[in-house]
Amino acid sequence: MFNQLLRPHIIELAPYSSARDEYSGSEGIFLDANENPLGSVTSKPYNRYPDPHQKHIKYQLSLIKNVEIDNIFLGNGSDEAIDLLIRAFCEPHKDNIIIMPPTYGMYEVSANINAVQIQKVPLDADFQIDLEKLKQTINSNTKIIFLCSPNNPSGNLLKKEDIEYILDNFQGITLLDEAYIDFCADASWIKHLEKYPRLVIIQTFSKAWGLAALRLGMAFAHKDLIAVLNKIKPPYNVSQTTQELVQESLQKEVQKNEMVKEIIVQREYLENKLNNLPFVEKVYPSDANFLLVKMHEAQKIFDYLLSEKIIVRNRVKVIEGCLRISVGTHQENETLIQTLQKYSKH
Ligand SMILES: *Cc1c(COP(=O)(O)O)cnc(C)c1O
Repeated sequence: MFNQLLRPHIIELAPYSSARDEYSGSEGIFLDANENPLGSVTSKPYNRYPDPHQKHIKYQLSLIKNVEIDNIFLGNGSDEAIDLLIRAFCEPHKDNIIIMPPTYGMYEVSANINAVQIQKVPLDADFQIDLEKLKQTINSNTKIIFLCSPNNPSGNLLKKEDIEYILDNFQGITLLDEAYIDFCADASWIKHLEKYPRLVIIQTFSKAWGLAALRLGMAFAHKDLIAVLNKIKPPYNVSQTTQELVQESLQKEVQKNEMVKEIIVQREYLENKLNNLPFVEKVYPSDANFLLVKMHEAQKIFDYLLSEKIIVRNRVKVIEGCLRISVGTHQENETLIQTLQKYSKH
């Protein structure tokens, strides 16, 4: 299905066949993978390689997300899926991707690592897609368009009809990054996967699920595209500890949703308080778990906060006068606001 778009050698590629691909049972004497038969020095049987296909997580996810297991890829963070997609579809020094700054930095870094050309179609003043510029920029070597909705660092959702227009008209791969989808009112595009075979949706356990340290990202797409990612990924790309802890977490979706609710309450609290500060010019509306804030003297305020051991994200080089502030606990947000009030007095 994707042979027109893939790099030719990826179509031909014979994947690594891991020991655990030949026998998938859990009973038996395992003398196939050169593991340590005596155990490990931890209290757990970490001497064995993990499931290369992460089937338990995928089964649970298929129920939660309402997709088939064959439509799910799991990687070492969503960054792994981004990198694999570029490597699968983009021929270095020949093909290009389109990104829409200001946006998540990894798309550009990943393309640069792979010597893939980047074409930039900046978002407009409302951080929405510039469709006219996009149409002029797409060429026959454009393989992937990266969309991020809600977008990082601006925090807003992209307009549905613009995403739809791209999906209906672009003949390459559209990657839609939904890292912050849990924090917004809109539904995921996962339910439209069947209609759009060249759509890849990326989500992560790093934000709403609170599992950034475990490194687990998800990609949802047509099964033939997922098969390509599985073919080129490192065989054991998700560790045993990650698989175990994510399986546990997936049974606690209710608690995750409660945390999301609390973060949204805190986001509104923070937004109000920030708006009352004299040096704040604008708090951009957010559909995510952070706020983009435009301030007079943003650089100075960033330095001041650092000196008070409060670390926010300096975005002044990306969006003039802007800092990106993650929503913290109520106590953390209070401290931030009090510290900023102190600044305005001196
Ligand atoms: C945080 C973030 C991710 C998550 O990356 P992981 O590698 O899964 O931790 C992906 N996309 C965007 C836009 C992000 O902000």
